Amino acid sequence: RSHQSQRLPYIKAIILGDSGVGKTSLMHQYVRGTFSTQYKATIGADFMKKVVKLDDRRVVDVSCWDTAGQERFQSLGVAFYRGADCCILCFDVTNARSFENLESWRDEFLIQVGPRDPESFPFVVVGNKIDVEGRRAVSQKRAMEWCAAKGNIPYFETSAKKDINVDEAFRTVVMNAMDQE
Ligand code: GDP
Ligand code: MG
Repeated sequence: RSHQSQRLPYIKAIILGDSGVGKTSLMHQYVRGTFSTQYKATIGADFMKKVVKLDDRRVVDVSCWDTAGQERFQSLGVAFYRGADCCILCFDVTNARSFENLESWRDEFLIQVGPRDPESFPFVVVGNKIDVEGRRAVSQKRAMEWCAAKGNIPYFETSAKKDINVDEAFRTVVMNAMDQE
């Protein structure tokens, strides 16, 4: 078994978006199945690993790279982006600004990683915090229109807190990354 794990295909997933949208919470929910209100920017792990069974035949080693507060300055460094196989672009559905900033997060990613065909690179967009009631600032329609204009990026509305759609969003982007190999 230990030999087997060394041969697993490996996917590096990067989580991007404004500070406070729930990136660290999404990663913890996906990797560990837990939610806490206590993730401090300064103690944020660089990455977390998870072995994922995609279907009967395919198992993949996924590492999720999260920022630890540096996203405020958009200065994440070369190592953070190096070798990224897919990217989760996150915003908070109660924060319009965080949605408007997706454009610059995507641009920054494309500059840093330089994929051959930006339109077919495995991105996923996540509109997080749908559990918050009465403060919706970005409609599903508006988010989907943006995604459609960027080469049909899959869109998921999630709650890291209530564990809604988190696994689906990550699974989709990992699957699409595998299909690119
Ligand atoms: P990051 O800065 O993007 O990593 O965001 P965090 O994961 O640190 O989350 C920022 C704040 O939003 C924290 O107080 C989280 O508890 C809260 N949060 C994250 N995801 C959700 C969610 O789905 N619903 C709600 N209500 N709060 C969330
Ligand atoms: Mg964080």
